[in-house]
Amino acid sequence: MKRIAILGFMLESNRFAPPCGRADFEERGTYRGADITAQARAATPSIYLGICGFYAEMDRLHGRGGWEPLPITHASSQPAGPIEEAYFNELLTEFETGLTAAGAVDGVYVPEHGGAIAVHTHDPDGEVFALVRRIVGPSVPVVATLDLHANVSDVMMDSVDVQIGYHCNPHTDIRERGEEAARVLSELMAGTKATAYRVRLPLVAPSVTQLTAEGHPYGDLIRLGQTKIDDRVINVTVLSGFAFADTPKNGMTVIVHTRDDPALAKSLAVELAAAGWADHTRYRTNMAALDIAVRRAVACGEDAVVPSILFADPADNPGGGGRGNTTYILKALLEAGVKGCLFGVFFDPALVEQAQAAGEHTAFRARLNTRETALYSEPLEWDARVVRLHDGEFVGHHGMVAGKSVSLGATAVIALGGVELVVISKRQQCLSSDFFEALGLDVVGARSIMVKSRGHFRAGFNHLFPPERIVEVDVPGLTSPNLANFDWRYLPRPVFPLDPDTTWAPPVA
Ligand SMILES: [Zn+2]
Repeated sequence: MKRIAILGFMLESNRFAPPCGRADFEERGTYRGADITAQARAATPSIYLGICGFYAEMDRLHGRGGWEPLPITHASSQPAGPIEEAYFNELLTEFETGLTAAGAVDGVYVPEHGGAIAVHTHDPDGEVFALVRRIVGPSVPVVATLDLHANVSDVMMDSVDVQIGYHCNPHTDIRERGEEAARVLSELMAGTKATAYRVRLPLVAPSVTQLTAEGHPYGDLIRLGQTKIDDRVINVTVLSGFAFADTPKNGMTVIVHTRDDPALAKSLAVELAAAGWADHTRYRTNMAALDIAVRRAVACGEDAVVPSILFADPADNPGGGGRGNTTYILKALLEAGVKGCLFGVFFDPALVEQAQAAGEHTAFRARLNTRETALYSEPLEWDARVVRLHDGEFVGHHGMVAGKSVSLGATAVIALGGVELVVISKRQQCLSSDFFEALGLDVVGARSIMVKSRGHFRAGFNHLFPPERIVEVDVPGLTSPNLANFDWRYLPRPVFPLDPDTTWAPPVA
């Protein structure tokens, strides 16, 4: 009977966003002990899907009676700022106590994001990995899954045996990577020795250029990496990283894991990094100016023959630490008199309370951003009507929330002019058409839809909008793809595209 410990923490940190702590992790999802197992095997889980995939594959490989899950703690926040020091240390203590109490284990699965920073350190993920290694000792296999927005440190490399990154952006393969972690961990427990080599490039690509569909450079590199998998190669991971963490460990990273063949791991990692660097000038943004986007939305609203358009606000992406409440685009749409527009999801619990106080089908003066004072979260007032009040609970059907339980908190749909705005109480990005349809809104009949999301929405709207009917709008925000807008402190420099003349040469043997 294999005894497998499971623990991890998931946070993508934006250094320019306010710090986060206990409330953020409790709202998104912190699970302990048997609750982790129950969630992992639930029909419509709310826990991280990598854990569900890990359990399912372990059950398939070993039978439910053939392995013993020892779930400790899995703490997950919406992407936010750096984690507060005291709360992070509390989490570390909880991991340490739980893993020590578990006694002798045969393996550890660490479902981690990998893109966190803390107020006091660039590398909280490394601290988690090092703690696990310290407790279980050098010979127990430890396998981690990482978001492809992870920034990998030397400590992370040295502390776990295999780090498995996603292949897909939007992240539609989270469950599959959890399944892969189960297979790799099982192989290591059977005696295979993994060796790894990592190459980091001076390339910090803007978020919107990191798509993995056909025709995108990042997807091309990941697919090239997968052609290298054979009986000598366990895993090839290519991480685009998360710029806004602003750390010395930023930069697109290739990690090759082999079956005890360090020379091959190195030669393959270098070969793939060189292929990635050869494409570095392809990581260019293609956003529309606000006035052009607004003109197109207005045109859609005035002519039912014009195909509808899906607009995105990548600069205020709660999935990258944005607050989900900037009003640059909304204000411009309202002033232009747009018609038939759905807009969501807008994070403003105080506005939900205003709508609740007014009641359904009632007119009121909407006052946006009365409670929050974060940078860019500017106030706006507009005459409104409450269309619908809702508890914000639903099960998704599309994209990254397909089959998942979603909670928006108390929710209100309010009409401001020709815009129907979905206002929520738990900050998150709009991941799919479910975020409108679950509230009774007509996504097919809408003339334009505006989402606060950088790119994950694409997987949840691709049944309605092909890529040519998606427009990214260039406005200010905490997650603006215009990297030159930010005051970087810790990125390794020079780095492309901030320093356009950056060069890179493969490490010599
Ligand atoms: Zn990610």
